[in-house]
Amino acid sequence: MSTLTLHRARTVFPVSAPPIADGAVAVQDGRIVAVGTHDDLTVALADAVTHRYEWDGVLSPGLVNAHTHLQYTDMAAVGRGTYPSFETWALAFEKSYRTPHDWAASAAEGARLSIEAGTTSVAEIVTDPEAGAAVHDAGLHGVVFWEVFGWKRAAWADRGPSTVLAQLAALPTPPATGLSPHALYSLDTDVFRSLQQLAEQHGVRLHIHAAESASEDEFARFGTGALADRWRGLGHSDLQLLSGNGSGLGVVQYLDEVGVLTPHSHLAHGIYVDADDRALLRARGVSVALCPRSNSVIGLDAPPVAAYLRERNPLAVGTDSLSSSPSLRVLDDVAELHRLARDQGYADTDLHARLLHAATAGGARALGLHHGGSPTGTLTVGARADLAIFDVAAPAPGDALAELVESSPTALATVVGGSPLWTAEPANGAVR
Ligand SMILES: [Zn+2]
Repeated sequence: MSTLTLHRARTVFPVSAPPIADGAVAVQDGRIVAVGTHDDLTVALADAVTHRYEWDGVLSPGLVNAHTHLQYTDMAAVGRGTYPSFETWALAFEKSYRTPHDWAASAAEGARLSIEAGTTSVAEIVTDPEAGAAVHDAGLHGVVFWEVFGWKRAAWADRGPSTVLAQLAALPTPPATGLSPHALYSLDTDVFRSLQQLAEQHGVRLHIHAAESASEDEFARFGTGALADRWRGLGHSDLQLLSGNGSGLGVVQYLDEVGVLTPHSHLAHGIYVDADDRALLRARGVSVALCPRSNSVIGLDAPPVAAYLRERNPLAVGTDSLSSSPSLRVLDDVAELHRLARDQGYADTDLHARLLHAATAGGARALGLHHGGSPTGTLTVGARADLAIFDVAAPAPGDALAELVESSPTALATVVGGSPLWTAEPANGAVR
């Protein structure tokens, strides 16, 4: 007989529906089978319930970290610095990256920290194969992206697709796997076009760093600026964008021109974008994972979160890695986005709800996990039971939502596919 588990919490945030005071979620075979008040579910399910959890906190869909590199968890010393520019951060990053690392252990530690922060799905970018198993081994959901970096067209034409497809195939599943063309400045234009075709042929998603630094725009447009100078200095003057004096297009338009802006891709950062760029992203159905604390460490501007919200772009939240961020806690970035949105003049009363949506349903959408056979990101009947419980004291649902979004509460438990993956204290899952 399959078990029927009831999770009761002070407030339940379905995200797809209004908050529920003294709410409950019923789970069977890894799926949500009912969401409602504790009283209603107790009546409806009566004696069918076999296990109960009484959580002293609030319950939401598990968080989705829509941009991270768990591999770099042991590079936290780089992330503790402050940098005047993207280029100076990149130098510090590369110096640390070239020293010996146990990437498998580093990524595993990142997965552990993620789970203990209420994260149930990640968009994880893997640069070295040793780091490729961490998400699978930890039992997290999400998409593991193989990073494609530093290919130019001649080498790519010779052996690129077969090399990258073998690297992709080496990643253990589940979860789903995908390809991450690193950024427009580290890959030739022909390589981007080819990667889009490969992704389409093999049915995998793409995830790209985009509009992260101001100098990236100048690189794309004219093949000039600080980033272009740096790449020329590294011996890459033959990159198509550099040898051809740029594309004449800004970052978002360039990515559209090479064909990678589709509902099967999402971008990280999206800082240096204008209204036309945001409109193009909406038209293409492309989500942006905002990583405001990473942007701040690297000395970049804040993402235009208020404009994205007002214009209704699909949004997600990422922590980026510890090499550029103080923690892997998605709620820390949610709190930062709340501060930024208010600073940027976003005054609507829906801000808390919209940011919780971005960190859950928005993240699931960014990763393509919001539909199909086992959707996640909301607490709806039929969705996968990916849940997070947080230590929020406010009794009224509205106050509890504000506390959740603004004050980055600690997680009490993380449930993936109906199974508690981690609990802060020994689980109180009493058999009925
Ligand atoms: Zn990144």
